Amino acid sequence: MSDHVSPFRADLLAGKVALVTGGATGLGLEVARLLGAHGARVAICSRKEPNLEVAVTQLRGNGIDAMYSVCDVRKPDEVAATMQRVLAQFGHLDIVVNNAAGNFPAPISGLSANGFKAVVDIDLLGTYNVSKAAYEAWLHQHGGAIVNISAATQYRGMALQAHVVSAKAGVDALSRACAIEWGADGIRVNVVAPGAMAGTEGVARIAGGELGAMPHIPLQRAGSTTEVAQAVLFLASDAASYMTGAIVVVDGGAWLTSGTSTPRSM
Ligand code: NAP
Repeated sequence: MSDHVSPFRADLLAGKVALVTGGATGLGLEVARLLGAHGARVAICSRKEPNLEVAVTQLRGNGIDAMYSVCDVRKPDEVAATMQRVLAQFGHLDIVVNNAAGNFPAPISGLSANGFKAVVDIDLLGTYNVSKAAYEAWLHQHGGAIVNISAATQYRGMALQAHVVSAKAGVDALSRACAIEWGADGIRVNVVAPGAMAGTEGVARIAGGELGAMPHIPLQRAGSTTEVAQAVLFLASDAASYMTGAIVVVDGGAWLTSGTSTPRSM
């Protein structure tokens, strides 16, 4: 967890309740911490209970009112039960962050239909399941904010990531559809599209651990989970009250260029 001093007002989310899927690790945990540090009560969910227990203990140690629910986002009954647990404990639900995702590198030639489907099921169908369950359980009557975590690799394509770029392109499209259908219910639906974040499990799996020099990134470095979580906090807050259907790319400008792009200077 970061001890970075937030540029946001400490009570930005006072009185709000947030659910973060995949909130026990990596970016999800940092999002939970940052939303909680700005006044929200926070629920996290994912499959592995030991990780959830450790994360909730950590969040509570930071003075955050936190709970967890064991839940596979691919399973609508578990997702619906999670909504009921959150509402029973916290009384309402204002912010949903769809962060849970699966990832592994594989060439298309070595990727099975099941492997492709597993990632689409977690990232895209999971986002659909959680958004729909939150809508039905609470948001359609009370409004709220949904922030979906996508990626930036789908805007150019990426080798060994056919399953992931396909799923994340779907998350972007689903987010726009939800934004249109649910705007009249007072629900804003936006996307944060992160680039490579140092120190995350995702980067360890794809980049094989350490990130090297990054001259192809305009800002010359990988980002941190805190820098991405700040965009989630902004979109979840009233500061983004007229934003819906937006995709906020937080990648240091990386998707604009690539290792084989024209050099920045001649
Ligand atoms: P991570 O540490 O691998 O975390 C993924 C989380 O999702 C885990 O807590 C995992 O917990 C949960 N999860 C996986 N399958 C699930 C399921 N079926 N149901 C419920 N929860 C499930 O990931 P990360 O690297 O922090 O990435 C977080 C998000 O940012 C993801 O959406 C990822 O695609 C996106 N992103 C990351 C990077 C990066 O640099 N890391 C770059 C671009 C985009 P369990 O295994 O316990 O279920």
